[in-house]
Amino acid sequence: MRLHHTGRPASDAEWQAFVARGATGLVWAVASTGIHCRDGCPARPCLRANLRVFDSRAQAEAAGFRACRRCGGG
Ligand SMILES: [Zn+2]
Repeated sequence: MRLHHTGRPASDAEWQAFVARGATGLVWAVASTGIHCRDGCPARPCLRANLRVFDSRAQAEAAGFRACRRCGGG
């Protein structure tokens, strides 16, 4: 079951923190790939339109996202 359209879009401040790989404690999910990442993931940043924000790993996984292989997930 694919539920990759949940989570919330990133605010301007959240997006800026994401691309700067700042420490936010948020979970970054990518709707186009179905993975979730932690702050500072070494993978190339996704398009903003594909980014979904979750407050916890459990929420991202409940929405159908899987942990990123590069960073271990959010
Ligand atoms: Zn990652």
